[in-house]
Amino acid sequence: MAGIKIDGIVIAQSVKDRVKKDVVELKNKGITPCLATVLVGNNPASATYVRNKHKACEEVGIATKDHKLDESITQSELIKIIDELNADKSVHGILIQLPLPKQLDEFTTTSRISPLKDVDGLTPHNVGLLAMKKAALVACTPSGIMEMFDYHGINLEGKNIVLINRSNLVGKPLYHLLLEKNATVLTCHSKTRNLTDLCQSADIIITAVGDRNKFVLTPDMIKEGAIVIDVAISRFQEKLVGDSDFEQIIQKASLATPVPGGVGPMTVAMLLRNTVTAASLSGEIEK
Ligand code: NAP
Repeated sequence: MAGIKIDGIVIAQSVKDRVKKDVVELKNKGITPCLATVLVGNNPASATYVRNKHKACEEVGIATKDHKLDESITQSELIKIIDELNADKSVHGILIQLPLPKQLDEFTTTSRISPLKDVDGLTPHNVGLLAMKKAALVACTPSGIMEMFDYHGINLEGKNIVLINRSNLVGKPLYHLLLEKNATVLTCHSKTRNLTDLCQSADIIITAVGDRNKFVLTPDMIKEGAIVIDVAISRFQEKLVGDSDFEQIIQKASLATPVPGGVGPMTVAMLLRNTVTAASLSGEIEK
């Protein structure tokens, strides 16, 4: 029997509806939440992502500031712009669209963002707070996945979770969030042995490899009734795909996310949520 689709578009909308109400409350207190985006260079995919983030902000009443910078900008010039945004009281969230051109170091750049405006949850300060269960601003994709579990009333306590990804953006923050919910988390990667065996014994599989030539999660690799969260987005044979084929996996899984329309929309919704959280934090500081 086919399982249930975890619909990222519907869940993201429920997050946006709540954010919209919070924005109204903040505006009544004289605070207009504002997200500043920084896009370096002319990567068309990055430009589309930034455009979509602006559109989503507009939908919920969050103001935006758009910084389009030349491909050849130096590290010190970029740092100067981040410092200006850090000091600008009308800006509550700063988002630097990644990847950056070669001459710019991602760690140096993202680390420069004030932790209070770090709506991507990527600064060492916020990553450390997450590890200590004290984070207010958490990376958007992992927190979006947690929101999906919440929405479907999935209790993670004692669940065996196989997490296939150990990146700073996805796997590492997600590991902490899942552990906080008392799940048993096995973090897998390209050097993991017997991945199929590990997947077959998992209650929940969260996969984010993003390269069909390296890894595909097929129905024979999951146990009957498992939950599958497919974070990956890649182009394969002219199609946008995840690590699994939703139509096949859902025949065996109890719940699963499609690609597209699964985790993707959650990431943008959580960015809006983080911007409102950052604006609220700024309101607390001003008091
Ligand atoms: P990444 O840094 O390249 O991470 C890929 C992970 O997959 C790494 O941990 C890598 O292991 C692991 N891996 C590679 N080959 C493997 C194999 N054969 N078996 C098991 N694990 C393997 O990429 P990322 O930034 O985390 O993104 C991952 C995917 O998620 C991409 O498709 C990206 O587009 C997608 N994504 C989607 C969203 C969204 O909003 N839906 C957000 C973020 C990312 P090693 O660490 O050993 O290399």
